[in-house]
Amino acid sequence: MRIPIRIRLALTYCAVFCVLIAALEAAAYWSVREAIHSIVDRELETRVAGLEDHIGRHLQRYGWPQLGASLSERPAFQPDYLFVRRTGGEVVFDRTWAHQVPVPDSSAVPQVATLEGPGHALRVITTRKIFGGTPYDVSCATDLWIPATILRRLWLWMILSVPAVLLLASAAGYWIGGRALRPVSGIISAAKSIDSNSLADRIRVPDTGDEIQSLAETMNGMLERIEDGFRQVRQFTDNASHELRTPIAIIRAAAEVALLKPASLKASTEERGYREALHRILRQAEGSTKLIEEMLELARVDSNTEKPSLVPLDVVRSLSHACAEMSALAAAKRLKLTFRTSQPEVSVQGDEERLRRLWLILLDNAVKYTPDGGSITVLVHCPDGKPVCDISDTGIGIAPEHLGRIFERFYRIDKARSRAEGGAGLGLAIASEIAKVHHAVIAATSTPGHGSNFRVTFP
Ligand code: ADP
Repeated sequence: MRIPIRIRLALTYCAVFCVLIAALEAAAYWSVREAIHSIVDRELETRVAGLEDHIGRHLQRYGWPQLGASLSERPAFQPDYLFVRRTGGEVVFDRTWAHQVPVPDSSAVPQVATLEGPGHALRVITTRKIFGGTPYDVSCATDLWIPATILRRLWLWMILSVPAVLLLASAAGYWIGGRALRPVSGIISAAKSIDSNSLADRIRVPDTGDEIQSLAETMNGMLERIEDGFRQVRQFTDNASHELRTPIAIIRAAAEVALLKPASLKASTEERGYREALHRILRQAEGSTKLIEEMLELARVDSNTEKPSLVPLDVVRSLSHACAEMSALAAAKRLKLTFRTSQPEVSVQGDEERLRRLWLILLDNAVKYTPDGGSITVLVHCPDGKPVCDISDTGIGIAPEHLGRIFERFYRIDKARSRAEGGAGLGLAIASEIAKVHHAVIAATSTPGHGSNFRVTFP
């Protein structure tokens, strides 16, 4: 599955923020909690010191029961939790019952512990003190409900802030990603629009001075090199075709001249063999001439040297003329060639000569690939308001696996058959280039064994 960079950036932002927020909030919570506990402990220690001082001064005179009553009158000591026992012996003062917390363990002193009661917690400090020569363990506490409430609120806010922060982080990641990648989208669409016919086009270089600018410049450099390579290949095809044209024309002429002499009835077997060889040379030379002409035609289209002159012309007239030109060939194969039109005149922007070439290629194929006695129907009509030309035949048809490739250069389905018919697989490639310069679309549909339809749709 392909996830766009923009989404990936947003998700990465979100994940990084998630970890950061969790770490920061945990650290903040821990330090606040420690700070509160240390304040509470210090305050508790002060209170215990005061208590011990009070007990030390008054225990001898009043004894424990009376001293307990005097402690209750001194709110500064807050003795609502006070637990005193002789070290390792009996409890002498217990004011812990209201809190329902366990009795503090005094095995290790001094000791600070948090004891849980129903719905609250106490911070209990236990110290050992000697009063009148006897060691006592004194436990004093403070209720933690205020710090606990503060910490609970803090925790709640932290938890609630996480989704909001994550949402903001994702939105920011998405937005920043979009902004950063906007020039890349421009480069992608420019690169997509460049094909072999528009290699001279270049990608607009953003003046950002960053990697995006360098990417655009690198791609333009690459296009430059590709264009150069294409130019050399085209030049080579053009030169090679021109160089081959003359010797083949000479071979053709020589064979034609040699065949001008009528064959005598009493010609020897050897002479008949020579004549047959000359006929074969002539056929091959004609095929080669056609191939060279087609290659030159494609080289011309590729090099873009001859711009088509598109003028308003009547496609009904252009196609009916082409049909008339092909009628003799069709008649030779006893094919029924029918021309129909839904309107007397259909105007398109076209180049007269190139359109004639397009129709002749399609009609020639229809004649070539339709067995004797079949029929070819040509129809000009305007469904959906667009001029459409259909050239249908009842020929051998094209298998679905070949349909998508017949417009490629040198693509022939049955090589032996095409060669015998004088085709090199360039006809439809030329037709498709001609359609392209007219901004028209050429498409083929076919049922093998029943026939094919070639449709040219003008804009
Ligand atoms: P060629 O000059 O060899 O005919 P094209 O480029 O004109 O080459 O056509 C490519 C291939 O498409 C041909 O080899 C042929 O097999 C197939 N083809 C083209 N037109 C038709 C048609 N009307 N009916 C059947 N096959 C066709």
